[in-house]
Amino acid sequence: MTALTETPNVTERDLGALVKVYGEVTERLKNSHEVLMHEVRRLREQIDEKNRELARRERLSALGVMAAGVAHEIRNPLGGIGLYASLLERDLIDRPKQRDIARKIGAGVEKLEGIVVDVLAFAGGAPPRCAPTRLSDIIDGALSVTEARFSADGACVDVSPEVRDVLWHCDEGKIRRVFVNLLVNALDAASQGAHVRIRPGDALPWSEDDGIELYSVVVEDDGPGISADRLHKVFDPFFTTKDTGTGLGLAIAHGIAESHGGRLTVRNRRSGGAAFTLSLPVATNHVAA
Ligand code: ADP
Repeated sequence: MTALTETPNVTERDLGALVKVYGEVTERLKNSHEVLMHEVRRLREQIDEKNRELARRERLSALGVMAAGVAHEIRNPLGGIGLYASLLERDLIDRPKQRDIARKIGAGVEKLEGIVVDVLAFAGGAPPRCAPTRLSDIIDGALSVTEARFSADGACVDVSPEVRDVLWHCDEGKIRRVFVNLLVNALDAASQGAHVRIRPGDALPWSEDDGIELYSVVVEDDGPGISADRLHKVFDPFFTTKDTGTGLGLAIAHGIAESHGGRLTVRNRRSGGAAFTLSLPVATNHVAA
């Protein structure tokens, strides 16, 4: 009698435990399914991003070959025109009006030569000659190039002390050029009295990409920022909103960052203004002594 009444109680307990375990396993499966789905989505986004980047590189490489061909063809006759203009300027010493015209031709040629140099740089100049380089040397070099422009605009620049001693493994001349471009763009965008900041990258300036350790620096301004429809175009060659711009500066800067195994990205600041983040491989001993 006792056995008969006890058996159903044991079975109920077992059943209860079984249902509990089943519930827990289902919950665990649901969680790992969600984790896996999240991972699949992340990997899919990564593949899409890599594919977009690959397509962009193919487009740019075809454009670069064509642009370099045109630039080479233009370079020689341009040199000739510049030379004849300077000879004319010299010979017209007694005719100031005509001399001024020859001088203007010479100035136009100089500007065109600058564009040809930029086009050739965009098409892929010499590969970077990297060495451990202190960030303060790069930044100070860029600031001395842009000094006159900063004082003419009544603008100022703040450099966070912690970025100064970082050592990048980079080509100093090429990276200086990137900073000059970012600083000049910041001044062009902001009004008189602009405030530009050079500081460590957001959250974690140190990161790793394919086993390479990178350090990020942000160059940000208090200008109007970049509208959403233009944000993804600023690195495209020949995209410019300036009357006298060539639209090559950021395309060259982006190419330089990539040729170092790094990257250059842009976003708008929440408080207004644009923020460009340059991430480059660090030298093995990271920080200068
Ligand atoms: P350019 O200076 O000849 O226009 P760039 O490639 O350096 O060529 O810049 C492309 C465009 O990106 C600029 O014309 C401008 O519209 C936009 N831009 C670049 N930097 C900034 C910035 N700091 N703030 C707002 N817009 C910017």
